[in-house]
Amino acid sequence: MLYRTVPKTGDKLSILGFGCMRLPSTRAGGVDEERAICQIRHAIDGGVNYLDTAPVYHLGRSEQVLGKALAGGYREKVRIATKLPHWSVFERADMDRILDGQLKTLQTDHIDYYLLHSLAGSSFRIMRDLGVLEFLDTAKKDGRIRNAGFSFHGRLEDFKEIVDAYDWQFCQIQYNYLDETNQAGTVGLQYAAAKGLAVMIMEPLRGGNLAGRVPETIRKLWDGAPVKRSPAEWGLRWVWDHPEVTVVLSGMNDEAHIDENLRVAGEALPESLTPDERALIGRVRDEYRRLMKVSCTGCGYCMPCPSGVDIPGCFASYNAHALFPHDRAGKFQYISRHGGLMGEKSNAGLCRQCGKCQKACPQHLPIPSLMKEVSREMEGMMGVAVPVFKGALWCMNKVGRVRRAITGEKPHA
Ligand code: SF4
Ligand code: SF4
Repeated sequence: MLYRTVPKTGDKLSILGFGCMRLPSTRAGGVDEERAICQIRHAIDGGVNYLDTAPVYHLGRSEQVLGKALAGGYREKVRIATKLPHWSVFERADMDRILDGQLKTLQTDHIDYYLLHSLAGSSFRIMRDLGVLEFLDTAKKDGRIRNAGFSFHGRLEDFKEIVDAYDWQFCQIQYNYLDETNQAGTVGLQYAAAKGLAVMIMEPLRGGNLAGRVPETIRKLWDGAPVKRSPAEWGLRWVWDHPEVTVVLSGMNDEAHIDENLRVAGEALPESLTPDERALIGRVRDEYRRLMKVSCTGCGYCMPCPSGVDIPGCFASYNAHALFPHDRAGKFQYISRHGGLMGEKSNAGLCRQCGKCQKACPQHLPIPSLMKEVSREMEGMMGVAVPVFKGALWCMNKVGRVRRAITGEKPHA
């Protein structure tokens, strides 16, 4: 296992982090706890020392299972990363209450890396006005958290604003060879690293779109490489090739994939890809873009939309859906990010056809008509799905309140 250093603290983290958002499941759809615990411990035995979870993963089960997996001496070997869900915070006291609950669930007295979950510009400003920066200061001072950070899925200018707003130790961004100019992108990665933040990477394989089953034309390109590597290995090596990257999170749930990732994480030094290998990945990127429905580069010149549409975000989810129309991941991503499930609505259906965006697009995309297409293709189930997911989140909060009523556990003032 290779390790990289957190610039502000000197902490040495494994370049492969275990993402606990896709733990193995049982036939009934719950987490296969025994198998998940074995996998987590196997990864730690292989050198992984960074484990990432969140209250929303597996509807709360991810933190519980991780807490159990780290019993028996494993906790002392690793850093835990978990997150504050801004959509469950309505007042300052909620922040302490949620963090204290997480410490109990994870069976620990401190969180090593604590993130504000899935920030965009508006959610950060709301949280800041509720006192989240003072909360982070307090939690660091009293030892409940060691390092403060945030995860991000918004626009580059908002990312820079958040980076500059606090003395963060780290951040977490979506990054892979298709997302160089999407969300924070390469510019955001370099911006954060230049400010001394460790940068953790999520979605290095675009939720699996760049691994496993790939479109036929992509497979032929990979097969033509002199060195034989799986699409997953190519994708991970591309991210690790960047010296600004600290940890790459992989949502692992298959023993063979864990072993493959552990092997690659022992070899993937920064700037270790050859010029020919980078060129091959560039050709694969071009082919993915050809296959995709909309040639949006994610540059953001069309933003902001006066009607609140996240134009590049909607196109990114639409393209993910177009590559593999039989998967539900693209539609779920679209609904969760743009349907108002985690923050304000930003879906294509909000478009009022004003045409402002089209004048700004360097790709000359017919954005207003594409918005109609995206809305038609992606929003069929949104009216039902969003209330159902919101209901599930409400139940999670409610169950927590009932548990506290039974156990006598008090929320912090
Ligand atoms: S055409 Fe639609 S997407 Fe474009 S700026 Fe106007 S409302 Fe927003
Ligand atoms: S300006 Fe065009 S290419 Fe850039 S993000 Fe907007 S739609 Fe995509």
